[in-house]
Amino acid sequence: MLLLVDLDGVVYRGTKPIPGIADLLARRVAAGDEVVYVTNNSMWYRADYVERLAAMGAPVSVDRVVSSPRATALYLREVDPGIERVLALGGPGLGRELADAGFTVVMAGDAAERVANEAIDRFEAGGRPGAVVVGLDPGLSWERLGVACTAIRAGALFIATNRDATYPTEHGLMPGAGAVVAAVEAATGVSPVSIGKPAPLLLQQAARVVGADPRAAVMIGDGIRTDLLAARAVGARSVLMLTGVSTRAEAEALRGPERPDAIAADAFELEAALRRLRGG
Ligand SMILES: [Mg+2]
Repeated sequence: MLLLVDLDGVVYRGTKPIPGIADLLARRVAAGDEVVYVTNNSMWYRADYVERLAAMGAPVSVDRVVSSPRATALYLREVDPGIERVLALGGPGLGRELADAGFTVVMAGDAAERVANEAIDRFEAGGRPGAVVVGLDPGLSWERLGVACTAIRAGALFIATNRDATYPTEHGLMPGAGAVVAAVEAATGVSPVSIGKPAPLLLQQAARVVGADPRAAVMIGDGIRTDLLAARAVGARSVLMLTGVSTRAEAEALRGPERPDAIAADAFELEAALRRLRGG
């Protein structure tokens, strides 16, 4: 069975591991299941997750982490093999994932600096990219937005890593990738293809990594409007974890096709749910 496992709110919450989950996943892999981690987070490089998950005892290798930047890179390769140069409005993790997939990456931050230092125009600074990928850019500026918008207006494909409006931090909610994407959309009048949950593309790319049909997968996530909707979009079954953003009351208010196949409050209940789903 393929388990598509969300990270924040399922395997850990912020910096703290959720008790028993890493061990449970290790047992599932030993019993023959495949585990692929799927996260909308556009900030980090896959190797960062491998280190963190391995330290918790979770079964992981770099190819089993499909973050929204990784899925974006895989999608771009597929959708237009002719694209070589990509402009990235986002953090360093986004740039590294695109470069790993063989693209020549121009970071919008570097392009904006060239505009300021060399008095060249925004289009020239972006190097005529075939696509603009927008994620969460913690160094966002008006000039960076300008470089991205100029390239899209000139015909580059507009891809969003995800459209999460907010990004949880230990200091509360900050604007998420979706807020940056909305600014670019407003300024260009162009709507992006979005890769992350609730869209289906992230889970489709994750299933492809192990050569599986996403309809045979079980999505394990804590987000009703992200994980559960993405699971439905690809025809996967789902387990809603109550270890993250969703409450039991919200879970029990779901009706008909909105309902997950199981709800689990902890690792113990997740294990029982997976046993049931395997049997059914
Ligand atoms: Mg989550």
